[in-house]
Amino acid sequence: MRALGLFSIYIPEKYGGAGLGFELLVRVIEEISKACPSTALVLDGALTLFAEPILMFGSEELKKRYLTQVAQGAVGGLAITEPGAGSDAASIRTTAVRKGSSFVVNGTKLFISNGRIAKFFVFDAVTDSGKRHRGGITTFVVDAGTPGLRISRDIRKMGLRGGSSTVELVFEDVEVPEENIVGQLNDGFRVIMETLDAGRIGIAAQALGIAEAAYEEALEYSKNRKQFGQAISEFEGGIQFKLADMATRIEASRLLTYEAARLWAVGQRAIKLASMAKMYASETAMFVAKEAIQIFGGATATPRTLTSRGT
Ligand SMILES: Cc1cc2nc3c(=O)[nH]c(=O)nc-3n(C[C@H](O)[C@H](O)[C@H](O)COP(=O)(O)OP(=O)(O)OC[C@H]3O[C@@H](n4cnc5c(N)ncnc54)[C@H](O)[C@@H]3O)c2cc1C
Repeated sequence: MRALGLFSIYIPEKYGGAGLGFELLVRVIEEISKACPSTALVLDGALTLFAEPILMFGSEELKKRYLTQVAQGAVGGLAITEPGAGSDAASIRTTAVRKGSSFVVNGTKLFISNGRIAKFFVFDAVTDSGKRHRGGITTFVVDAGTPGLRISRDIRKMGLRGGSSTVELVFEDVEVPEENIVGQLNDGFRVIMETLDAGRIGIAAQALGIAEAAYEEALEYSKNRKQFGQAISEFEGGIQFKLADMATRIEASRLLTYEAARLWAVGQRAIKLASMAKMYASETAMFVAKEAIQIFGGATATPRTLTSRGT
């Protein structure tokens, strides 16, 4: 992906990128996901999760320092989740305590995508314990090599086991300069929430690609597989209705995802559509994959169909 310049597509030309915008990024994530969602997650994480908060909220200095590196293919990650803070992102325990013109960070972040390959992370920490998400959380960016920051373990996943590494990240007295604050002090919860809106659209695009690939494989197979003297695609009740349902849900997912991406690209947060797209497209990926397995019967995807996708 680095050799193809894919990391540069969403970075503005001003910072050495190709400046091709969010809608194109979503299409690229979708296409890569048809062949390998794990690989797509590396790109998605680097651009929608790491570059996006810096683009939206970072100082000019941070943009110059980090986005120029991303444009060259350096990968970043976003560290929000903790062992005790998943859906309830406001309950993070990682703290950042002021020490002169720096902050000293302590805490543990869990399920961090791109962990093994990331050169830097955007992360959030409590800076005013009385206020939590109502003005007590700050978002920072930190280089992976900073003393005290280490990967404590790799997380084994059921899926996305290709290029995407997922880790637990430990901060032990990590010193982060105040100029590494992304946005304003104590306004970090907003930075994270807005970043997750973009992240949802990226995940929707991954799910869409997965569904499309499963559908294409199943359709092709149904045309070639003969039983009872005809292609199984001729059976209306058993196979055609399945394919029609799969295609309909995919189309609905595509419309939701593209519309959310279009709105995001013109500067609208699209909270509702981004959430709907992520929810609907990921449920569609599950539905379509399950139906595709039924159409294949006991067979698996053939080398021919895999080769046709270039995998
Ligand atoms: C592949 C993968 C990559 C990830 N990458 C990153 C990353 O790069 N950076 C990062 O910070 N995090 C990452 N995450 C973490 C992800 O954001 C969390 O998994 C997510 O926030 C959910 O948290 P949890 O897993 O702790 O589940 P929990 O929040 O514990 O939820 C468990 C169950 O309870 C339900 N539940 C929770 N709250 C409610 C409620 N109020 N009402 C009803 N039901 C509820 C949930 O829907 C779910 O079914 C990743 C996760 C995965 C799986």
